Order: sequence, then structure tokens, then C-alpha cells
Amino acid sequence: MYKMMTPGPTMVADSVMQARSRIFGNPDVDKDFCEEYHTLCRELGELLHTENEVYILGGEGILALEAACASLTEPGDRVLVIDNGIFGRGFADFVRIYGGDPVLYTVDYHRPVDVMELSRYLEKDHDFAYATLVHCDTPSGVLNDMKEICPLLKKYGILTVVDSVSAMFGEELCVDDWQIDIVCGGSQKALSAPPGLAFVSVSKEAFRVMKGRKTPIASFYCNILMFENYYRDKWFPYTMPISDIYGMAEAVRIVREDSGRLERHQRIARAVRFAVQEGGLSLYLDYGDAATVTVVRVPEGLTDTAIIETMKENYGILISGCFDVLAGKVFRLGHMGQSANIDDVRQMLAALTDTLNSLGFTCRCRMDEVFMRNLQ
Ligand SMILES: *Cc1c(COP(=O)(O)O)cnc(C)c1O
Repeated sequence: MYKMMTPGPTMVADSVMQARSRIFGNPDVDKDFCEEYHTLCRELGELLHTENEVYILGGEGILALEAACASLTEPGDRVLVIDNGIFGRGFADFVRIYGGDPVLYTVDYHRPVDVMELSRYLEKDHDFAYATLVHCDTPSGVLNDMKEICPLLKKYGILTVVDSVSAMFGEELCVDDWQIDIVCGGSQKALSAPPGLAFVSVSKEAFRVMKGRKTPIASFYCNILMFENYYRDKWFPYTMPISDIYGMAEAVRIVREDSGRLERHQRIARAVRFAVQEGGLSLYLDYGDAATVTVVRVPEGLTDTAIIETMKENYGILISGCFDVLAGKVFRLGHMGQSANIDDVRQMLAALTDTLNSLGFTCRCRMDEVFMRNLQ
């Protein structure tokens, strides 16, 4: 098996795999499961710095995004879709599917959203039911400033839906202080559980809007309101994937005990970015990279597939390419969650140096060595 240095899924601790193999009961009938689920939701809430209700949903991260849009969008609603990346733009599809009118605020994909520019835009037009935002847009690795942008939107009474799937647990996230109405997370990024679970936190105001709708929510599986009384009624809208939840509970335990986590992500990310540039590569972004992923331009004359295949076949390390408008243009180095550790990142950069040299791009230095020297 290879070392997984992709920006999700990440490597997973052995104890998480073991927790998933625990003998399980019937999550629909056994009230103890409901307690465990409830406790895990509270623990996630603490990590996200929110008092809001948290629900774990049985599906991949995308389910959280779609559930937020399904539950909030009424036909004809104008929804502000903040687009400086592929996931940012993708929200428009969910808004449209549920009958909303997505209004794209599209800006340069090479840098974070400029808060002053957005502020000037909102002065002229702020008639939106809610806005969608992406904390780290993983295909480019750009980190947007949720701390500034969400309160700005709320000043105009616009609800905030934030996709932090690939930022949370690797970057700071303070849901309540930053006034995020619905935050979307997933199991397989910096939380480092296997793929399969999504979760959302839901503010009182978001609940008020969902309950005050003129039209019913046009989904069952994506209807967040279905979860509202689960604890009181000891009832879930569908059978919870109990083994996945056991695994995620262990991943959450690991994160709770790891107080140096955010600082380590920053330190490793800084040193990776420095090393690849010293090596003669260039970053996709002008500035504003997230601490969870580094996105590098494919050097001229090489292909992403050659780099990725050589890394995997010759060195047993899997990195990632990209898709959509960035397909073939960049490759992505994941350093989030369990993969954000010095030894694995060093090995990844050693393999990358050897791979590029063998493919005809001569690196200006050994990137693994520069990485190690710049880890302060
Ligand atoms: C990974 C990711 C998701 C979830 O995508 P899945 O395919 O469901 O894993 C959503 N948003 C962002 C920004 C992501 O990186």
C-alpha cells in the first residue's frame, strides 16, 4: 500500500481503523447509540467553537453542502455564490437544483476573496437569502477569510453557509464568533477518518428560516430539519452508519488531545511552500495558501500523470492531480490531519525531488532537505 499524501482522503490512525471494526448494535433501536451520537456531535461542536446544534449525516462531505442548500433554498430565492474556486462555483448547482437563483460573485482564482471589494459589491446589492462560501477551496488551496467575510454578510442580514470541509481541524475555525449559520464538514480531510461521513452545525437563525419556509424542503435525505428532534424522540431519519461513526469518534478523540495541531499544520505548510519554490517549482496561488494543501504548477514539458504515477510506482507515495479548470495544470501535495507530520512530508518531498529529476526537470535543490532546515 502507498502513503497517502493527497488533500483528502488522508492517512488514518490504526486506532481509528480498529474502532470501525468494533462489534455494533442496532443504531435505530439501541438508545445507547443515540447517546454516543449525541456526545460525538457535542464534541465536534466544541472543536468548531460553536454552541449550535451539530448533526452527523450519513454521506460524504458533499452531502453537507447539498443539505444546507436544500434546506435553505426556496424557489426564486436569490443566493450569493462567492466564487474564487471550483468548489465555490459548484455551490451554484445545488442552489439551482432546489429552485434558487444563484448570483455568482466571481473573482480571481489565484488569491483569497478581497474583503474590501466584496464590501463595496454588497453596498450596491445585498438582497440575498443566504450566501455560500468556501473556507479552503481545495483544488487551488486558497484560504478565504471567513472571520471577516461572514460578519460582513450578516450585517446585511444574509445567512452564511460555509464549506470548511478541507480547512477545519487544520486551520482555525470559530463558528460562533465568525457568525457562520451552517458550517459543512467531512470525515476524510483533516479529521483523518475514512471517507463516508458529513456533518453540519446549524444556527438558531438558520432553524428559524428553515421552519418559516413557505414551501416544503424538496428532499428527504438532504432535509436538515429531519434531525431537529432526533435526541428528544430517539429517532433518526435513516439508519446511521454506526461503524463509520465509531471510527470518527476515535478520530475526534485524537484531535481533542492534540493541542499542537494547528501550529503544526502552519509550520509544515510554510516549510513545504518554501521548499518547492527553492526547488524551482511555482505555486498556483499568488498568496493565501491554506495550511492543509499545497498546489503546485506542473512544470513545462511534464505532465501531472507522469509525476503522480512515478511517485506512486517508484516511491510508494500518492499525491493528487486536479480536475475541472485546473485539470492537468497543477498537482497537489496534501499535508492535513494524520498526513501533517514531518517524517511523511519529508519522504514526500524526497520522492518528488527524485521523481522530477528522473522526468527531466532538474530541481535546484533537494526539497526534502530544504524542508527540514526550514521547519521553525
Ligand atoms: C473534499 C471536499 C468536499 C467534499 O467532497 P467529497 O467528494 O464529498 O469528499 C467539499 N468541499 C471541499 C472544499 C472539499 O475539499
